[in-house]
Amino acid sequence: REEQIVHIKELIKERDVKFIVLQLADIQGTAKSITLPVNQLNKIIDNEVMFDGSSIDGFARIEESDMYLYPDLSTFVILPWKTHNGTTVARLICDVYMPDGGYFEGCPRYVLRRALEKAKEMGYSFYVGPEPEFYIFNKDEKGEPVLENNDKAGYFDMAPLDKGEDVREVISTALEGLGFEVEASHHECGPGQHEIDFKYADALSTADNIITFRYVVRKIADDLGLLASFMPKPVEGIAGSGMHLNMSLFKGDKNIFFDPDAKNQLSDEAVYFVGGLLKHAKGLTAITNPLVNSYKRLVPGYEAPVYIAWSHQNRSPLVRIPAKRGLSTRVELRNPDPACNPYLALATVLMAGLDGIENKIEPPKSVNKNIYAMDLDERLEKDIQALPMSLYEAIKELMNDDIVKDALGKHVTEKFISGKLKEWNSYREKVHKWEIDEYLRGY
Ligand code: GLN
Ligand code: MG
Ligand code: MG
Ligand code: MG
Repeated sequence: REEQIVHIKELIKERDVKFIVLQLADIQGTAKSITLPVNQLNKIIDNEVMFDGSSIDGFARIEESDMYLYPDLSTFVILPWKTHNGTTVARLICDVYMPDGGYFEGCPRYVLRRALEKAKEMGYSFYVGPEPEFYIFNKDEKGEPVLENNDKAGYFDMAPLDKGEDVREVISTALEGLGFEVEASHHECGPGQHEIDFKYADALSTADNIITFRYVVRKIADDLGLLASFMPKPVEGIAGSGMHLNMSLFKGDKNIFFDPDAKNQLSDEAVYFVGGLLKHAKGLTAITNPLVNSYKRLVPGYEAPVYIAWSHQNRSPLVRIPAKRGLSTRVELRNPDPACNPYLALATVLMAGLDGIENKIEPPKSVNKNIYAMDLDERLEKDIQALPMSLYEAIKELMNDDIVKDALGKHVTEKFISGKLKEWNSYREKVHKWEIDEYLRGY
């Protein structure tokens, strides 16, 4: 720690950093921040920066709202761009503590730390590589986004069809300036849809990275007069945006999902982990797919999962085992979308997988066939169930899943469910255009 502090102070001096942004995430996974001039550095390092927790979504009641920011010094980074005033700014991601020095239970980072602690007790470290997708839209003369872009490209298309090449390049460069190792970027299926993949890391770093990634993508698009959105299904009739999670468990430097002698070279742990994921799939969905709109993506025909099954090749099921083996052996969960709170998603998904390992939960037989093409009889015969079809259904499933609720803890479970019920009710009370088109004249 002392070394970290010396290093941070050196960098600040060397690069003439003027401000430090302290960043945290609320219960929705929205990044929040407070900026301090660099002369406050000692206060920051001594964990003395206070804020009003009652103003942050899903945090505290007004009566107990004094909270403290404890910066995680390993997350210190100097932003690779200057502000409009030409100043250099650094960023630190924080944990949230109570005035008595105890951890704040509603801090999403704490929820993930607790799950990782449990994994550690079992001897595991958890690594995750995400594949976030997003759309880029134009803005009109007034600066309002329009659901259009002059891009007609599809999966892996190149310029001149691909109009996003330059934007992806600027984003990738900025990410690298923030210490990301960008592994690949490409045009996705939908017109104006893109994916940028960065290197897998331990789950806490990955969750931090997802928050930073969303910030950078949206900021750079905005700087360029465009709107980038991680909304799961912004345009009906074309692909939605997902965020596949590629997951593995390590013991030391050994990927324990890999077993060269086992069937498919998959260890028992890997198979049980999948068993846990499938068993808790319904209860996890409110966390991995948290918006009313998320469920418009989880429909047949757009490479998004609809049914609870796993496969070694086919991309229609919820869980796929990519062909890579050895150190890269991994389980890909395909329903999460990039609107989720990554801390809560990784914590709950991990606990579901560990439940599988602990209780030796055998997954059903893998399905190496396109499930979308099966009729209901065939699905029933194979006992392939569907994921929740609405946010409301997903909330009810969450309420019935003790593993997921325990992973979240009491505080987060309650705040999350009450917030989501409010969101659902606000949607439910509105009369939508579809209803008018469908019913007004005929009834
Ligand atoms: N966009 C698809 C989804 O919603 C994924 C497409 C892909 O990466 N092959 O999950
Ligand atoms: Mg991909
Ligand atoms: Mg993709
Ligand atoms: Mg994928």
